Amino acid sequence: MTVHVHYEHRCAGCGAFYIPYAPGVPCPKCGRPGTEAFDFVPQAAASLRFNLQSYGSYLPPAWYVGSLGDHCLRLLFSAFEAWRTRPDPAESFDSALERKLGAMEWGDQLYMLGHVRDIARRVRAELGEG
Ligand SMILES: [Zn+2]
Repeated sequence: MTVHVHYEHRCAGCGAFYIPYAPGVPCPKCGRPGTEAFDFVPQAAASLRFNLQSYGSYLPPAWYVGSLGDHCLRLLFSAFEAWRTRPDPAESFDSALERKLGAMEWGDQLYMLGHVRDIARRVRAELGEG
């Protein structure tokens, strides 16, 4: 089993998918101020922690993307796993994050790169590692 986060949200202005993980987080695409907040960070941290404890990896053996929350989680799993298995032990979390996220294909959702990076930093703080 895995820990999923079922959540959907689109900007009321431009229609971009994003997660308003704290009150006042603006749309990462058009900058429109958010009107709702969803407490995503602690749930993402719990899901990552569960994977590591159950599978010894942030990437679970199988992952069904059933919502925007799950999609973001999959990106976080990849990024955290890239950091956990970094070839250079001295590489910083931010550097590993840039390396992994920067190598992904974002298409017309490039705004998500910075958005996922912001979320990843908060999740790491929540996990309280190093
Ligand atoms: Zn927008």
